Amino acid sequence: MRGERVTITGGGIAGMSAAAFLKKEGFEVTLLESTHKLGGRVFSYFDDETGLNFDNGQHILAGWYENTFDFLRTIGKEPKFRANPYLEVYFREPGGGHYEFKAKGDNPFIAVAKGFLDYSPLTLMDKYHLLSLRELIELDIAERLLKGRNLTWLLSHLKQTENLKKYFWEPFVFAVFNTSPEYVDASVFLNVLVKAFDKYGSMSLIIPDESLDELFTDPFRKYAEKNIDVRTNAKAAAYKLNDGKIESVVLESGEEIKSDYFVSAVPFHSFRFLFSDQDFGKYFQCSDGLKPASIVSIYIVPENMPEGFHDRFYHGMIGLLGTKAHWIFFKKDHICAVISAPEYTVDGYEKLGNDALCETVVSEIRKCFPEFKDTVFKRVKYFREKRATFLPSVESSGCRPESSTGISNFFIAGDWTNTGLPATIEGAAASAKKCTELIIKKN
Ligand SMILES: Cc1cc2nc3c(=O)[nH]c(=O)nc-3n(C[C@H](O)[C@H](O)[C@H](O)COP(=O)(O)OP(=O)(O)OC[C@H]3O[C@@H](n4cnc5c(N)ncnc54)[C@H](O)[C@@H]3O)c2cc1C
Repeated sequence: MRGERVTITGGGIAGMSAAAFLKKEGFEVTLLESTHKLGGRVFSYFDDETGLNFDNGQHILAGWYENTFDFLRTIGKEPKFRANPYLEVYFREPGGGHYEFKAKGDNPFIAVAKGFLDYSPLTLMDKYHLLSLRELIELDIAERLLKGRNLTWLLSHLKQTENLKKYFWEPFVFAVFNTSPEYVDASVFLNVLVKAFDKYGSMSLIIPDESLDELFTDPFRKYAEKNIDVRTNAKAAAYKLNDGKIESVVLESGEEIKSDYFVSAVPFHSFRFLFSDQDFGKYFQCSDGLKPASIVSIYIVPENMPEGFHDRFYHGMIGLLGTKAHWIFFKKDHICAVISAPEYTVDGYEKLGNDALCETVVSEIRKCFPEFKDTVFKRVKYFREKRATFLPSVESSGCRPESSTGISNFFIAGDWTNTGLPATIEGAAASAKKCTELIIKKN
Protein backbone atom coordinates (compact mmCIF):
# COMPACT_ATOMS: atom_id res chain seq x y z
CA MET A 1 0.00 0.00 0.00
CA ARG A 2 1.32 3.41 -0.95
CA GLY A 3 -0.61 5.56 1.50
CA GLU A 4 0.32 8.99 0.07
CA ARG A 5 -2.53 11.47 -0.01
CA VAL A 6 -4.03 12.80 -3.23
CA THR A 7 -6.58 15.62 -3.17
CA ILE A 8 -8.82 15.91 -6.21
CA THR A 9 -10.85 19.04 -6.95
CA GLY A 10 -14.05 18.53 -8.99
CA GLY A 11 -16.52 15.65 -8.64
CA GLY A 12 -17.57 15.05 -12.27
CA ILE A 13 -16.66 11.91 -14.24
CA ALA A 14 -12.98 12.98 -14.37
CA GLY A 15 -12.76 13.56 -10.60
CA MET A 16 -14.76 10.46 -9.63
CA SER A 17 -12.77 8.19 -11.94
CA ALA A 18 -9.43 9.67 -10.83
CA ALA A 19 -10.52 9.01 -7.23
CA ALA A 20 -11.43 5.38 -7.99
CA PHE A 21 -8.29 4.65 -10.07
CA LEU A 22 -5.98 6.21 -7.46
CA LYS A 23 -7.66 4.42 -4.56
CA LYS A 24 -7.23 1.14 -6.42
CA GLU A 25 -3.49 1.91 -6.58
CA GLY A 26 -3.32 2.35 -2.80
CA PHE A 27 -3.46 6.15 -2.43
CA GLU A 28 -5.53 7.91 0.22
CA VAL A 29 -7.97 10.09 -1.69
CA THR A 30 -9.97 13.20 -0.82
CA LEU A 31 -12.48 14.44 -3.41
CA LEU A 32 -13.71 18.03 -3.21
CA GLU A 33 -16.88 19.09 -5.05
CA SER A 34 -18.18 22.66 -4.99
CA THR A 35 -21.90 21.83 -5.35
CA HIS A 36 -24.12 19.65 -3.18
CA LYS A 37 -23.95 16.72 -5.61
CA LEU A 38 -21.43 14.59 -7.49
CA GLY A 39 -21.53 13.93 -11.25
CA GLY A 40 -20.80 17.37 -12.75
CA ARG A 41 -22.49 17.50 -16.16
CA VAL A 42 -23.67 13.92 -15.71
CA PHE A 43 -26.83 14.00 -13.58
CA SER A 44 -30.55 13.27 -13.56
CA TYR A 45 -33.39 15.31 -12.11
CA PHE A 46 -37.04 14.85 -11.22
CA ASP A 47 -39.61 16.98 -13.06
CA ASP A 48 -42.47 17.76 -10.66
CA GLU A 49 -44.93 18.62 -13.40
CA THR A 50 -44.75 15.26 -15.20
CA GLY A 51 -43.44 13.07 -12.39
CA LEU A 52 -40.72 11.84 -14.74
CA ASN A 53 -36.97 11.54 -14.29
CA PHE A 54 -34.92 13.32 -16.97
CA ASP A 55 -31.19 13.17 -17.58
CA ASN A 56 -29.16 16.32 -18.12
CA GLY A 57 -29.34 15.64 -21.84
CA GLN A 58 -29.18 12.27 -23.54
CA HIS A 59 -25.72 10.72 -23.08
CA ILE A 60 -24.51 8.02 -25.46
CA LEU A 61 -21.52 5.81 -24.77
CA ALA A 62 -19.58 3.86 -27.38
CA GLY A 63 -17.89 0.46 -27.52
CA TRP A 64 -14.50 2.20 -27.52
CA TYR A 65 -15.08 3.88 -24.10
CA GLU A 66 -12.55 1.57 -22.41
CA ASN A 67 -11.59 3.94 -19.56
CA THR A 68 -15.25 4.61 -18.77
CA PHE A 69 -15.94 0.88 -18.48
CA ASP A 70 -12.79 0.49 -16.39
CA PHE A 71 -14.13 3.18 -14.03
CA LEU A 72 -17.47 1.36 -13.75
CA ARG A 73 -15.70 -1.96 -13.08
CA THR A 74 -13.51 -0.33 -10.43
CA ILE A 75 -16.53 0.93 -8.48
CA GLY A 76 -18.27 -2.44 -8.88
CA LYS A 77 -21.02 -1.21 -11.21
CA GLU A 78 -22.52 -3.66 -13.69
CA PRO A 79 -24.02 -1.32 -16.32
CA LYS A 80 -27.51 -2.12 -17.63
CA PHE A 81 -27.68 -1.96 -21.38
CA ARG A 82 -28.38 -4.12 -24.38
CA ALA A 83 -26.00 -3.00 -27.10
CA ASN A 84 -25.39 -4.43 -30.53
CA PRO A 85 -21.66 -5.04 -31.09
CA TYR A 86 -22.00 -3.24 -34.43
CA LEU A 87 -23.18 0.17 -35.62
CA GLU A 88 -26.90 0.48 -36.30
CA VAL A 89 -28.45 3.89 -36.91
CA TYR A 90 -31.86 5.01 -38.19
CA PHE A 91 -32.61 8.29 -39.95
CA ARG A 92 -35.77 10.17 -40.85
CA GLU A 93 -36.48 13.37 -42.77
CA PRO A 94 -39.56 15.59 -43.12
CA GLY A 95 -41.99 14.03 -45.55
CA GLY A 96 -41.39 10.54 -44.18
CA GLY A 97 -38.06 9.55 -45.86
CA HIS A 98 -36.51 6.87 -43.65
CA TYR A 99 -33.16 5.11 -43.92
CA GLU A 100 -31.07 2.58 -42.00
CA PHE A 101 -27.31 2.30 -41.76
CA LYS A 102 -26.07 -1.05 -40.46
CA ALA A 103 -22.39 -1.94 -40.31
CA LYS A 104 -22.62 -5.60 -39.30
CA GLY A 105 -19.73 -8.06 -39.28
CA ASP A 106 -16.53 -9.10 -37.47
CA ASN A 107 -14.19 -6.86 -39.45
CA PRO A 108 -15.10 -3.18 -38.87
CA PHE A 109 -13.74 -2.05 -42.27
CA ILE A 110 -15.69 -4.65 -44.24
CA ALA A 111 -18.78 -4.07 -42.07
CA VAL A 112 -18.76 -0.31 -42.76
CA ALA A 113 -18.11 -0.83 -46.49
CA LYS A 114 -21.14 -3.15 -46.63
CA GLY A 115 -23.14 -0.65 -44.59
CA PHE A 116 -22.45 2.09 -47.13
CA LEU A 117 -23.25 -0.20 -50.08
CA ASP A 118 -26.71 -0.89 -48.63
CA TYR A 119 -27.38 2.66 -47.42
CA SER A 120 -30.24 3.74 -49.67
CA PRO A 121 -29.98 7.56 -49.80
CA LEU A 122 -26.51 7.34 -51.39
CA THR A 123 -26.03 7.25 -55.14
CA LEU A 124 -23.42 5.13 -56.93
CA MET A 125 -21.30 8.27 -57.33
CA ASP A 126 -21.48 8.97 -53.56
CA LYS A 127 -20.31 5.42 -52.86
CA TYR A 128 -17.47 5.77 -55.35
CA HIS A 129 -16.21 8.89 -53.51
CA LEU A 130 -16.11 6.96 -50.26
CA LEU A 131 -13.15 5.07 -51.72
CA SER A 132 -10.98 8.14 -51.09
CA LEU A 133 -11.31 7.44 -47.35
CA ARG A 134 -8.54 4.88 -47.92
CA GLU A 135 -6.15 7.82 -47.75
CA LEU A 136 -6.93 8.20 -44.05
CA ILE A 137 -5.97 4.62 -43.34
CA GLU A 138 -2.34 5.40 -44.11
CA LEU A 139 -2.00 7.08 -40.76
CA ASP A 140 1.50 8.54 -41.18
CA ILE A 141 0.31 10.53 -44.16
CA ALA A 142 -2.94 11.42 -42.42
CA GLU A 143 -1.23 12.92 -39.38
CA ARG A 144 0.87 15.27 -41.51
CA LEU A 145 -2.00 16.04 -43.86
CA LEU A 146 -4.45 16.97 -41.11
CA LYS A 147 -2.31 19.19 -38.91
CA GLY A 148 -4.04 22.57 -38.53
CA ARG A 149 -6.97 21.55 -40.79
CA ASN A 150 -10.65 21.40 -39.97
CA LEU A 151 -13.11 18.70 -40.95
CA THR A 152 -14.76 20.80 -43.67
CA TRP A 153 -11.38 20.90 -45.39
CA LEU A 154 -10.89 17.17 -44.97
CA LEU A 155 -14.33 16.22 -46.33
CA SER A 156 -13.77 18.37 -49.38
CA HIS A 157 -10.20 17.03 -49.82
CA LEU A 158 -11.68 13.51 -49.77
CA LYS A 159 -14.24 14.62 -52.39
CA GLN A 160 -17.20 13.77 -50.17
CA THR A 161 -20.41 14.81 -51.97
CA GLU A 162 -23.19 17.03 -50.53
CA ASN A 163 -25.33 13.91 -50.30
CA LEU A 164 -22.70 12.09 -48.24
CA LYS A 165 -22.33 15.09 -45.95
CA LYS A 166 -26.08 15.43 -45.41
CA TYR A 167 -26.95 11.75 -45.03
CA PHE A 168 -23.92 10.52 -43.12
CA TRP A 169 -21.10 12.83 -42.03
CA GLU A 170 -23.08 15.69 -40.55
CA PRO A 171 -25.37 13.64 -38.26
CA PHE A 172 -22.35 11.63 -37.10
CA VAL A 173 -20.31 14.79 -36.48
CA PHE A 174 -23.15 16.51 -34.55
CA ALA A 175 -23.51 13.45 -32.31
CA VAL A 176 -19.83 12.92 -31.51
CA PHE A 177 -18.35 16.42 -31.68
CA ASN A 178 -21.40 18.51 -30.73
CA THR A 179 -20.89 20.99 -33.55
CA SER A 180 -20.60 21.23 -37.34
CA PRO A 181 -17.54 20.06 -39.36
CA GLU A 182 -16.20 23.61 -39.69
CA TYR A 183 -15.43 23.69 -35.93
CA VAL A 184 -13.91 20.21 -35.70
CA ASP A 185 -10.16 19.66 -35.77
CA ALA A 186 -9.60 16.97 -38.44
CA SER A 187 -6.96 15.30 -36.21
CA VAL A 188 -9.47 14.85 -33.37
CA PHE A 189 -11.91 13.40 -35.92
CA LEU A 190 -9.24 10.93 -37.04
CA ASN A 191 -8.52 9.90 -33.41
CA VAL A 192 -12.19 8.99 -32.92
CA LEU A 193 -12.27 7.11 -36.24
CA VAL A 194 -9.20 5.07 -35.26
CA LYS A 195 -10.79 4.14 -31.92
CA ALA A 196 -14.13 3.25 -33.54
CA PHE A 197 -12.39 0.96 -36.04
CA ASP A 198 -10.08 -0.57 -33.43
CA LYS A 199 -11.82 -3.93 -33.04
CA TYR A 200 -15.08 -5.80 -33.24
CA GLY A 201 -17.55 -4.01 -30.97
CA SER A 202 -15.66 -0.69 -30.78
CA MET A 203 -18.12 1.20 -32.94
CA SER A 204 -21.18 0.04 -31.07
CA LEU A 205 -23.39 2.86 -29.71
CA ILE A 206 -24.58 2.31 -26.16
CA ILE A 207 -27.66 3.95 -24.72
CA PRO A 208 -27.95 2.97 -21.06
CA ASP A 209 -31.25 1.57 -19.80
CA GLU A 210 -30.88 3.54 -16.58
CA SER A 211 -30.55 7.18 -15.62
CA LEU A 212 -27.17 8.93 -15.44
CA ASP A 213 -27.43 8.98 -11.62
CA GLU A 214 -28.15 5.25 -11.53
CA LEU A 215 -25.29 4.49 -13.91
CA PHE A 216 -22.54 6.71 -12.51
CA THR A 217 -23.19 8.80 -9.43
CA ASP A 218 -25.19 6.49 -7.14
CA PRO A 219 -22.76 3.53 -7.49
CA PHE A 220 -19.78 5.86 -7.05
CA ARG A 221 -21.28 7.32 -3.89
CA LYS A 222 -21.83 3.80 -2.53
CA TYR A 223 -18.27 2.77 -3.42
CA ALA A 224 -16.89 6.00 -1.90
CA GLU A 225 -18.54 5.39 1.49
CA LYS A 226 -15.80 2.95 2.42
CA ASN A 227 -13.00 4.10 0.16
CA ILE A 228 -12.87 7.84 -0.42
CA ASP A 229 -13.17 10.97 1.68
CA VAL A 230 -15.82 12.83 -0.38
CA ARG A 231 -16.64 16.41 0.53
CA THR A 232 -19.51 18.13 -1.25
CA ASN A 233 -20.24 21.87 -0.82
CA ALA A 234 -16.46 22.22 -0.71
CA LYS A 235 -15.48 24.80 -3.30
CA ALA A 236 -11.77 25.18 -3.95
CA ALA A 237 -10.81 28.85 -4.06
CA ALA A 238 -7.07 28.66 -4.74
CA TYR A 239 -4.01 26.46 -4.90
CA LYS A 240 -1.09 27.62 -2.76
CA LEU A 241 2.27 27.25 -4.45
CA ASN A 242 5.61 27.13 -2.74
CA ASP A 243 8.94 26.43 -4.39
CA GLY A 244 7.46 24.94 -7.60
CA LYS A 245 5.09 22.63 -5.69
CA ILE A 246 1.48 22.89 -4.57
CA GLU A 247 1.43 23.05 -0.80
CA SER A 248 -2.30 23.08 -0.22
CA VAL A 249 -5.70 23.80 -1.70
CA VAL A 250 -7.63 26.52 0.07
CA LEU A 251 -11.41 26.18 0.17
CA GLU A 252 -13.84 29.08 -0.04
CA SER A 253 -14.61 28.43 3.65
CA GLY A 254 -10.97 29.22 4.45
CA GLU A 255 -10.09 25.60 5.28
CA GLU A 256 -6.68 24.57 3.92
CA ILE A 257 -6.06 21.00 2.77
CA LYS A 258 -2.50 19.70 2.51
CA SER A 259 -1.61 16.70 0.40
CA ASP A 260 1.27 14.91 -1.36
CA TYR A 261 -0.35 15.24 -4.80
CA PHE A 262 -3.14 17.36 -6.24
CA VAL A 263 -5.39 16.68 -9.22
CA SER A 264 -7.61 19.39 -10.69
CA ALA A 265 -10.73 17.92 -12.33
CA VAL A 266 -12.70 21.15 -12.72
CA PRO A 267 -13.87 22.41 -16.15
CA PHE A 268 -11.71 24.86 -18.11
CA HIS A 269 -13.83 27.88 -17.17
CA SER A 270 -13.31 27.25 -13.43
CA PHE A 271 -9.65 26.26 -13.64
CA ARG A 272 -8.49 29.77 -14.45
CA PHE A 273 -9.63 31.09 -11.05
CA LEU A 274 -7.68 28.60 -8.94
CA PHE A 275 -4.37 30.39 -9.59
CA SER A 276 -3.07 33.91 -9.24
CA ASP A 277 -2.61 35.72 -12.59
CA GLN A 278 1.12 35.38 -12.20
CA ASP A 279 1.10 31.60 -11.58
CA PHE A 280 -1.51 31.00 -14.27
CA GLY A 281 0.56 32.94 -16.81
CA LYS A 282 3.70 31.05 -15.82
CA TYR A 283 2.31 27.51 -16.00
CA PHE A 284 -0.89 27.33 -18.06
CA GLN A 285 -1.33 30.33 -20.32
CA CYS A 286 -2.82 28.63 -23.35
CA SER A 287 -5.72 26.85 -21.58
CA ASP A 288 -7.42 30.28 -21.48
CA GLY A 289 -8.37 30.05 -25.18
CA LEU A 290 -11.05 27.30 -25.11
CA LYS A 291 -14.60 28.18 -26.17
CA PRO A 292 -17.78 26.49 -24.87
CA ALA A 293 -20.49 24.90 -27.05
CA SER A 294 -24.03 24.36 -25.76
CA ILE A 295 -26.56 21.55 -26.12
CA VAL A 296 -30.31 22.13 -26.22
CA SER A 297 -32.45 19.24 -25.04
CA ILE A 298 -36.19 19.50 -25.57
CA TYR A 299 -38.21 17.01 -23.53
CA ILE A 300 -41.64 16.28 -24.96
CA VAL A 301 -44.25 14.25 -23.10
CA PRO A 302 -47.02 12.91 -25.38
CA GLU A 303 -50.44 12.06 -24.01
CA ASN A 304 -50.03 8.58 -25.44
CA MET A 305 -46.75 7.07 -26.54
CA PRO A 306 -47.52 4.43 -29.21
CA GLU A 307 -46.94 1.00 -27.64
CA GLY A 308 -43.34 -0.24 -28.10
CA PHE A 309 -42.52 2.71 -30.35
CA HIS A 310 -38.97 3.11 -29.13
CA ASP A 311 -38.20 -0.57 -29.84
CA ARG A 312 -38.76 0.00 -33.55
CA PHE A 313 -35.44 1.81 -33.71
CA TYR A 314 -32.13 0.90 -32.12
CA HIS A 315 -32.72 2.12 -28.55
CA GLY A 316 -35.24 4.65 -29.84
CA MET A 317 -32.46 6.75 -31.38
CA ILE A 318 -33.05 8.44 -34.73
CA GLY A 319 -31.00 11.00 -36.63
CA LEU A 320 -33.13 13.74 -38.21
CA LEU A 321 -32.02 15.07 -41.59
CA GLY A 322 -32.47 18.65 -42.82
CA THR A 323 -34.09 19.78 -39.55
CA LYS A 324 -33.12 22.03 -36.63
CA ALA A 325 -33.24 19.09 -34.20
CA HIS A 326 -30.33 16.74 -34.91
CA TRP A 327 -31.24 13.62 -32.96
CA ILE A 328 -34.42 12.28 -31.37
CA PHE A 329 -34.58 9.70 -28.58
CA PHE A 330 -37.85 7.90 -27.93
CA LYS A 331 -38.13 6.75 -24.33
CA LYS A 332 -40.92 4.69 -22.78
CA ASP A 333 -42.86 7.77 -21.68
CA HIS A 334 -41.24 10.78 -23.34
CA ILE A 335 -39.22 12.05 -26.29
CA CYS A 336 -35.92 13.90 -26.08
CA ALA A 337 -34.92 16.05 -29.05
CA VAL A 338 -31.32 17.24 -29.14
CA ILE A 339 -29.83 20.24 -30.93
CA SER A 340 -26.04 20.32 -30.90
CA ALA A 341 -24.50 23.73 -30.30
CA PRO A 342 -27.35 25.74 -31.94
CA GLU A 343 -25.22 28.90 -31.65
CA TYR A 344 -22.97 27.33 -34.30
CA THR A 345 -25.33 25.01 -36.18
CA VAL A 346 -28.74 26.72 -36.44
CA ASP A 347 -29.04 29.80 -38.69
CA GLY A 348 -30.74 32.68 -36.87
CA TYR A 349 -30.72 30.82 -33.52
CA GLU A 350 -30.17 33.96 -31.42
CA LYS A 351 -33.36 35.54 -32.80
CA LEU A 352 -35.54 32.44 -32.47
CA GLY A 353 -36.29 32.32 -28.72
CA ASN A 354 -37.01 29.19 -26.70
CA ASP A 355 -40.74 28.90 -27.43
CA ALA A 356 -40.29 29.27 -31.20
CA LEU A 357 -37.52 26.68 -31.19
CA CYS A 358 -39.72 24.24 -29.24
CA GLU A 359 -42.60 24.80 -31.68
CA THR A 360 -40.28 24.23 -34.64
CA VAL A 361 -38.95 20.99 -33.17
CA VAL A 362 -42.46 19.70 -32.34
CA SER A 363 -43.53 20.44 -35.92
CA GLU A 364 -40.42 18.65 -37.25
CA ILE A 365 -41.32 15.59 -35.18
CA ARG A 366 -44.84 15.58 -36.62
CA LYS A 367 -43.44 15.88 -40.17
CA CYS A 368 -40.84 13.13 -39.71
CA PHE A 369 -43.10 10.75 -37.75
CA PRO A 370 -46.66 10.66 -39.14
CA GLU A 371 -47.46 8.46 -36.08
CA PHE A 372 -47.42 11.71 -34.03
CA LYS A 373 -49.38 13.85 -36.51
CA ASP A 374 -52.39 14.23 -34.19
CA THR A 375 -50.80 13.45 -30.83
CA VAL A 376 -51.38 15.92 -28.02
CA PHE A 377 -48.16 16.82 -26.23
CA LYS A 378 -48.76 17.40 -22.52
CA ARG A 379 -45.47 19.09 -21.76
CA VAL A 380 -42.61 20.52 -23.79
CA LYS A 381 -39.63 21.47 -21.66
CA TYR A 382 -36.67 23.39 -23.03
CA PHE A 383 -33.31 22.90 -21.40
CA ARG A 384 -30.03 24.44 -22.52
CA GLU A 385 -26.68 23.51 -21.02
CA LYS A 386 -24.55 26.49 -22.06
CA ARG A 387 -21.20 24.87 -21.42
CA ALA A 388 -22.06 21.32 -22.41
CA THR A 389 -18.74 20.79 -24.22
CA PHE A 390 -15.82 22.79 -25.51
CA LEU A 391 -15.61 23.55 -29.21
CA PRO A 392 -13.20 20.88 -30.61
CA SER A 393 -11.72 23.26 -33.17
CA VAL A 394 -8.15 23.52 -34.48
CA GLU A 395 -7.66 26.58 -32.22
CA SER A 396 -8.87 24.61 -29.16
CA SER A 397 -6.41 21.80 -29.79
CA GLY A 398 -3.58 24.28 -29.28
CA CYS A 399 -5.07 25.30 -25.91
CA ARG A 400 -5.67 21.91 -24.28
CA PRO A 401 -3.16 21.34 -21.47
CA GLU A 402 -1.35 18.07 -20.83
CA SER A 403 -2.19 16.23 -17.59
CA SER A 404 1.39 16.66 -16.40
CA THR A 405 2.28 20.26 -15.60
CA GLY A 406 5.33 22.35 -14.74
CA ILE A 407 4.34 21.89 -11.08
CA SER A 408 5.82 18.59 -9.94
CA ASN A 409 2.95 17.39 -7.69
CA PHE A 410 0.04 18.82 -9.71
CA PHE A 411 -1.92 17.11 -12.50
CA ILE A 412 -4.93 18.09 -14.61
CA ALA A 413 -7.87 15.84 -15.47
CA GLY A 414 -11.07 16.75 -17.33
CA ASP A 415 -12.59 16.25 -20.76
CA TRP A 416 -10.84 19.46 -21.94
CA THR A 417 -7.27 18.26 -21.33
CA ASN A 418 -5.16 17.03 -24.23
CA THR A 419 -6.55 13.50 -24.63
CA GLY A 420 -7.00 13.94 -28.39
CA LEU A 421 -10.72 13.18 -27.89
CA PRO A 422 -13.73 15.50 -28.07
CA ALA A 423 -15.56 16.50 -24.84
CA THR A 424 -16.92 13.15 -23.75
CA ILE A 425 -17.31 10.93 -20.72
CA GLU A 426 -14.51 8.82 -22.18
CA GLY A 427 -12.26 11.89 -22.54
CA ALA A 428 -12.87 12.67 -18.85
CA ALA A 429 -12.16 9.06 -17.75
CA ALA A 430 -9.10 8.82 -20.04
CA SER A 431 -7.64 11.99 -18.50
CA ALA A 432 -8.17 10.49 -15.02
CA LYS A 433 -6.31 7.35 -16.06
CA LYS A 434 -3.45 9.50 -17.40
CA CYS A 435 -3.18 11.42 -14.08
CA THR A 436 -3.16 8.14 -12.16
CA GLU A 437 -0.31 6.77 -14.31
CA LEU A 438 1.68 10.00 -13.90
CA ILE A 439 1.29 9.97 -10.11
CA ILE A 440 2.33 6.31 -9.93
CA LYS A 441 5.47 7.16 -11.91
CA LYS A 442 6.37 9.92 -9.45
CA ASN A 443 5.89 7.59 -6.52
C1 LIG B 1 -26.41 17.80 -22.57
C2 LIG B 1 -25.12 17.05 -22.65
C3 LIG B 1 -25.01 15.93 -23.47
C4 LIG B 1 -23.81 15.22 -23.55
N1 LIG B 1 -23.76 14.09 -24.30
C5 LIG B 1 -22.67 13.30 -24.21
C6 LIG B 1 -22.67 12.02 -24.83
O1 LIG B 1 -23.63 11.63 -25.48
N2 LIG B 1 -21.57 11.24 -24.70
C7 LIG B 1 -20.48 11.64 -23.98
O2 LIG B 1 -19.53 10.86 -23.84
N3 LIG B 1 -20.44 12.86 -23.39
C8 LIG B 1 -21.50 13.69 -23.48
N4 LIG B 1 -21.51 14.92 -22.86
C9 LIG B 1 -20.24 15.42 -22.30
C10 LIG B 1 -19.93 14.85 -20.93
O3 LIG B 1 -21.03 15.02 -20.05
C11 LIG B 1 -18.72 15.59 -20.36
O4 LIG B 1 -17.66 15.54 -21.30
C12 LIG B 1 -18.21 14.98 -19.06
O5 LIG B 1 -19.26 14.73 -18.15
C13 LIG B 1 -17.18 15.94 -18.44
O6 LIG B 1 -16.75 15.46 -17.19
P1 LIG B 1 -15.68 16.29 -16.34
O7 LIG B 1 -15.51 15.55 -15.07
O8 LIG B 1 -14.49 16.56 -17.18
O9 LIG B 1 -16.32 17.73 -16.07
P2 LIG B 1 -17.65 18.16 -15.23
O10 LIG B 1 -18.73 17.15 -15.42
O11 LIG B 1 -17.95 19.55 -15.63
O12 LIG B 1 -17.19 18.10 -13.70
C14 LIG B 1 -16.46 19.13 -13.10
C15 LIG B 1 -16.88 19.23 -11.65
O13 LIG B 1 -16.04 20.21 -11.00
C16 LIG B 1 -16.82 20.92 -10.09
N5 LIG B 1 -16.13 22.19 -9.77
C17 LIG B 1 -15.98 23.29 -10.58
N6 LIG B 1 -15.25 24.22 -9.93
C18 LIG B 1 -14.94 23.71 -8.72
C19 LIG B 1 -14.20 24.21 -7.60
N7 LIG B 1 -13.66 25.43 -7.62
N8 LIG B 1 -14.07 23.41 -6.49
C20 LIG B 1 -14.62 22.17 -6.47
N9 LIG B 1 -15.33 21.66 -7.50
C21 LIG B 1 -15.48 22.41 -8.61
C22 LIG B 1 -18.15 21.12 -10.83
O14 LIG B 1 -19.20 21.46 -9.93
C23 LIG B 1 -18.32 19.72 -11.46
O15 LIG B 1 -19.01 18.85 -10.60
C24 LIG B 1 -22.67 15.67 -22.80
C25 LIG B 1 -22.76 16.80 -21.99
C26 LIG B 1 -23.97 17.49 -21.90
C27 LIG B 1 -24.05 18.68 -20.99
